[in-house]
Amino acid sequence: MKDKKHFESLDPENWESMRSLAHQMVDDALSYLENVGDRPVWQQVPEEIAKTFSDTAPRKPSDSTQVYKEFLERILPYPMGNIHPRFWGWYMGAGTVIGALGEFLGAVMNPNLGGGNHVANMVEGQVVNWVKEILNFPSDASGLLVSGGSMANFIGLAIARNTKAGFDIRKFGMQAAPKHLIVYASSEVHSSVQKNLELLGMGSDSLHKIPVNRDYTINLEQLKSTVIADRKAGLQPVCVVGNAGTINTGAIDDLNAMADLCAQENLWFHVDGAIGAVAILAEKVKPLLKGMERADSVALDLHKWMHMPIEVGCVVVRHDEAHRKTFSLTPEYLAKSTRGLAAGQHWFSEYGVQLTRQFRALKVWMSVKEHGLDKFGRMIQKNVDQANYLARLVNAHPLLELTAPVGLDIVCFRFNSGDLDSERLNDLNKELLIRLHESGVCVPSYTTLNGNYCLRVGIANHRSRDEDFEMMVDEVVRIGKELALQFKK
Ligand SMILES: *Cc1c(COP(=O)(O)O)cnc(C)c1O
Repeated sequence: MKDKKHFESLDPENWESMRSLAHQMVDDALSYLENVGDRPVWQQVPEEIAKTFSDTAPRKPSDSTQVYKEFLERILPYPMGNIHPRFWGWYMGAGTVIGALGEFLGAVMNPNLGGGNHVANMVEGQVVNWVKEILNFPSDASGLLVSGGSMANFIGLAIARNTKAGFDIRKFGMQAAPKHLIVYASSEVHSSVQKNLELLGMGSDSLHKIPVNRDYTINLEQLKSTVIADRKAGLQPVCVVGNAGTINTGAIDDLNAMADLCAQENLWFHVDGAIGAVAILAEKVKPLLKGMERADSVALDLHKWMHMPIEVGCVVVRHDEAHRKTFSLTPEYLAKSTRGLAAGQHWFSEYGVQLTRQFRALKVWMSVKEHGLDKFGRMIQKNVDQANYLARLVNAHPLLELTAPVGLDIVCFRFNSGDLDSERLNDLNKELLIRLHESGVCVPSYTTLNGNYCLRVGIANHRSRDEDFEMMVDEVVRIGKELALQFKK
């Protein structure tokens, strides 16, 4: 028998020194965020640091202060950059301070949100209810917090498939489908929808992409005629995916018209609102999202325009029963009791893929309580206004041009000196983007629209100020002019 002194666990051997280290971490973290704008947005991890990440796993312990020191030296200085006021790449949120602390506190409690009778499930239930309220969904709708928009789309599409297939797909699988099941979305739909259909065994061919109008919204006439023609050809339409903010240009499909069509044609209406669903909180954007409240399911992201620390997204589903029927599987070791820890009728593991689930609700709960939804709405509106401000700066400059209409908070533009052919112009803008990143001044990303490579600025950032966009424009013009001389040769 070992005496108490030799008892080994993973807890600190000295709680006092761990306590002071933890205080130090919090202090450093807050200073880091307070001064984030003074550092480069992004910088390449130096070779000598990069190679340390191929060290093999240690067998022996290190002092916790030493581990933290390594973090400070080798990890903290090289963030992706999305916490910085001049990061507008792809589409990411900037984080909230209390959300980061909530992430920590959630890990301290370390519960499993698969189910059971404990308070964390109530917190997630409340957060899901808040999302339903935001979206004007009925109170008996179901919902689930997930890793992000991809998984939220997966869940919506899985329920759509199972509900509309017309046979017991859980038992017999896709092999038993008498007809090909078809899903519709515009050509601008996010890649996660295709990936999900592949994973659902439907194949990428089951996604019928419908052309878009000049404003990158789905062409409704074509959508309707394709559904009808497919039915005639012996296919089985099951679902239409509407975009509430496309990834390329922020375009919002006519969701009301799509809801009408789905009602007429008995199709599941899923909305991918990873970008734009929460923009319903901004009074001026709200009317553009009309019809979203009629969807059968909505996928949205809370780590994008709601700025929660990554990861957290949410799916809401109008039909609780259909949702549960797609995912519920309760072997005897997961049976519920009437009292005690195994009680509680609503187990989140019956609504998604994961059994063990993180307490990701806490960071959302704390952030929303601290700031209130109105403030999130103002942050969203500010970004929309900034996108329009940037578009005005671009339009006012003879060497810059918009390559798409501004949708929500997304601006696509390029440098165009007017004397290069389209291929060279693309090469110039590619090089320009890389140099922008390497400069550390700002981080937009990129896309190609109608064959034109362009810079894409997705402004989901509560830290950005108007001056930040002026700084980007100056830098783009400066680098663009340099490159134009080079590319003309
Ligand atoms: C980001 C995004 C997704 C995927 O969401 P993740 O949170 O990255 O998994 C899906 N659809 C759209 C429109 C997106 O912008």
